[in-house]
Amino acid sequence: MLGFLDEVLASLKVRILAGIFLIFFLAMGMVLYGVWTFQRNKLIEITSQHAVQVGLIIEAGLRSSMLLNDRKASMKTILKLLHGKNKNFLQISVLNKNGEIIMTSKPSLAGRVINKNDEPACLVCHNHGATKDKTIAIINNGGNSFIRTITAIKGEPACYRCHSAKQKVIGILLIDSSLKETTAMLNELAMRIVLTGIFAFLVGAFFLNFIVTRFFTRPLAALQAGFEKVGCGDFTYWVEVNCGGEILHMADAFNIMSRAIGRYVDEIRARRNEVASHYAIVQSLSQTIEKKKLKDIVLDLLCKILRADCADFALAMEKKKNTFEIVSLKKGDKRHYHTYYKMDSDTCQVGSITRDDLFGLLNERYTSPVYSDDGSRLLIPIQQKSMHFGLISIVKPAGETFTPSERKIIPVLVHHITISFANAELYDLAITDGLTSLYTKRYFLIKIKEFVENFHSTKRGFCVLILDLDHFKEVNDTYGHPVGDEVLVRVAELVRSNVRHGDIPCRYGGEEFIILLKGDNLMAAVKIAERIRRSMEDFTFELAGTPPFKRTLSAGVACFPLHFCTADEIIAAADTALYQAKRDGRNQVNVYPSRSAAEEA
Ligand code: GH3
Ligand code: MG
Ligand code: MG
Repeated sequence: MLGFLDEVLASLKVRILAGIFLIFFLAMGMVLYGVWTFQRNKLIEITSQHAVQVGLIIEAGLRSSMLLNDRKASMKTILKLLHGKNKNFLQISVLNKNGEIIMTSKPSLAGRVINKNDEPACLVCHNHGATKDKTIAIINNGGNSFIRTITAIKGEPACYRCHSAKQKVIGILLIDSSLKETTAMLNELAMRIVLTGIFAFLVGAFFLNFIVTRFFTRPLAALQAGFEKVGCGDFTYWVEVNCGGEILHMADAFNIMSRAIGRYVDEIRARRNEVASHYAIVQSLSQTIEKKKLKDIVLDLLCKILRADCADFALAMEKKKNTFEIVSLKKGDKRHYHTYYKMDSDTCQVGSITRDDLFGLLNERYTSPVYSDDGSRLLIPIQQKSMHFGLISIVKPAGETFTPSERKIIPVLVHHITISFANAELYDLAITDGLTSLYTKRYFLIKIKEFVENFHSTKRGFCVLILDLDHFKEVNDTYGHPVGDEVLVRVAELVRSNVRHGDIPCRYGGEEFIILLKGDNLMAAVKIAERIRRSMEDFTFELAGTPPFKRTLSAGVACFPLHFCTADEIIAAADTALYQAKRDGRNQVNVYPSRSAAEEA
């Protein structure tokens, strides 16, 4: 309750209204009090003048009887006047020059002597040593106020019969008139003034409240609402005030300020989104350095950042001229579709990439990203110096085009993607054997360690298959080293064509090959080894400058974790199995530690 009261008193409107009402109340009170005192004095003055006039009339009425020295007639006149039409007279008395009441309408006062030094009415004149012919005093007799008119009865020749000619004043006429009527009028006046005051106060309060609300508190409330909206981040809110002056200027300044803040916030948001996009680009592209994974990541990234409907990536194949690997991704599809495209094929288009687009890439027609005329498709060449990695095509959903902010980020995307592909290219060179294009021994060692580590979390094992050509030295010795190299290239193709997707075939060194086979199914590994062995056995080498000839190979297989649980041990186990195969007569597959598995397969 107290809290609510505090809140009400703290309200600006209440304070302003209270202040204005206080000033208004004081000003109005003072005005009304002034009016009341003025009116009261005026009324009393009128009443006094009336009393004087009445005194003159009484004096004239008494004159004749007093000249006759007929007290009875004088008394009669007094009583007649007292009970006449004018009901205001309270008493009429005549005093002699000594102050003794010699005639009075109030018998109880007869003979009383009025001391001019005691009687308040007398003191009006006598106190100042001066004398007046007539004086008026308002006497308050225990709450009953009345007007006392004191008139000196002056001596004149007609009076010398009874009074000495030296006497200037032969008596005093004392008339008490009631102030009842005047008091009633004053009370009524006061009442009307109070009622007028209350009415004026209420009307004033109503208008003041209206003015303060309309021109002050309501515009301030609108401003406050604006501040709250801006505080909540709504910078489009427009403060509308129906008033002029400072508050209107304040509202205008507020609106300008909120719009400016809105613009800055939008700018900061755009910058933040830009930074976030850059970060997302770098983070996504730095996930891998392998080309194989990178192309899928690039498509995911482009589809997400550019809100594309579909994206296609044509990658130039190093070994096959004019052939492209096409990777496609459609919006909402998690799978990437891989296909190959030969420039001389019948098909003119794969995904959104046309043969013409690819010709453009090969003929170095594109130096930068190219938008279609309707702005719904974008072609991005991924190239560095003389290296053409590929061409990306991005298509927006129907009816949409690339926005200015998307167009702004595309050069950044292209830059990062190109760098990533250049790095991947270098990495590819580092992990690929120059002669056979199989993975290198270094890559094999990295991968086998990864497989071992992954086993702890996935519990998925693997097999290692080592292959060694039988009596390869003879090939070199018989046909020469270059023919031996050519044989190695053909064997590598044979190996590559007999392994599954996900298996990792490597050149281990010289004429030895090692394959990391996914899965710990020993029988499946033996089957693959046997398939390669048989393919080799069946294959006839028909090389330039040599008669057709045949070769064989021997293989050793070990399984992780069946045989051993470290990379070195499992390689050594496969190697042991291979040498056992050599010892057992070559052209065969041997499984560590016994030969039984190979025989069963
Ligand atoms: P086996 O394995 O059956 O015991 O007999 P092998 O003749 O194959 O014996 P070994 O493994 O000792 O010989 C390997 C030969 O492979 C020696 C070398 O002349 C040849 N060689 C190694 N690297 C290359 C290469 O890069 N190119 C060519 N042409 N020959 C290579
Ligand atoms: Mg050999
Ligand atoms: Mg060897």
